[in-house]
Amino acid sequence: LEEEVRRSDRLKTIGQIAAGTAHEIRNPLTAIKGFMQLLSKSLIDRDMDKEQEFVGIVLSELDRVNDLVSDFLLLSKPKEIKQVSMKIGEVLQEILPMIRNEALLYNVTVLYYPKPGLSPILADKELLKQVFLNLGKNAIEAMDGGGNLIIREFSSPCEPDKIALEFRDTGPGIPADVLDKVFDPFFTTKPQGTGLGLSVCQRIVHDLRGNIEVASDRNGTQFIVWLPCFEGPTD
Ligand code: ADP
Ligand code: MG
Repeated sequence: LEEEVRRSDRLKTIGQIAAGTAHEIRNPLTAIKGFMQLLSKSLIDRDMDKEQEFVGIVLSELDRVNDLVSDFLLLSKPKEIKQVSMKIGEVLQEILPMIRNEALLYNVTVLYYPKPGLSPILADKELLKQVFLNLGKNAIEAMDGGGNLIIREFSSPCEPDKIALEFRDTGPGIPADVLDKVFDPFFTTKPQGTGLGLSVCQRIVHDLRGNIEVASDRNGTQFIVWLPCFEGPTD
């Protein structure tokens, strides 16, 4: 019975996410249609600058639709995960250049503290990269005008079977009443946000049998991702 309740809860959640996604897709589609209409008019006047601008907007709105659909698929479809042994730092290194690039645009300094000698973790690299990228982007977006993003690897004797990666920022922090909602699908405080980033992060981390924690005050916000250690033979 418990299993059935869980299944029906899950279907209900998927239904809500589907409805939300359909709704969110309407906005970019409306924009795409509008700018294509402007473009077709502009093709008569031959205003190249305008044409360029409209095509640029259409392309970025198409990216947005694509991102929404990818996030929706990730949230609704139980994906088969292949967990293999890897170093948490190696996964991070693959997306660090992207995070540093984004940080430049916001005047944010990225400080990375690897911890030598940590056990390998069991994870799915592509999914984990998506988690780290989302957390990094959120931290940077919270610090418009500058700040520090500190990314730190650590382990704790209280969680001997897990390895942690912390994303700490010096942004404005998340008010207590908002903190409860940040993992909800479609919860966003950004004009252009989808509100799916953290739901996707949480979903992936849970699927990997890890957990994700958030703490925040006026000095900034901290997200910690805990992932299971690989306990097999080491090389
Ligand atoms: P989105 O980034 O599209 O808004 P997310 O699910 O990634 O969606 O984040 C949801 C909300 O959580 C954000 O809109 C923001 O209000 C809050 N949030 C997430 N990370 C941070 C952070 N590091 N600092 C401040 N607020 C944050
Ligand atoms: Mg986000």
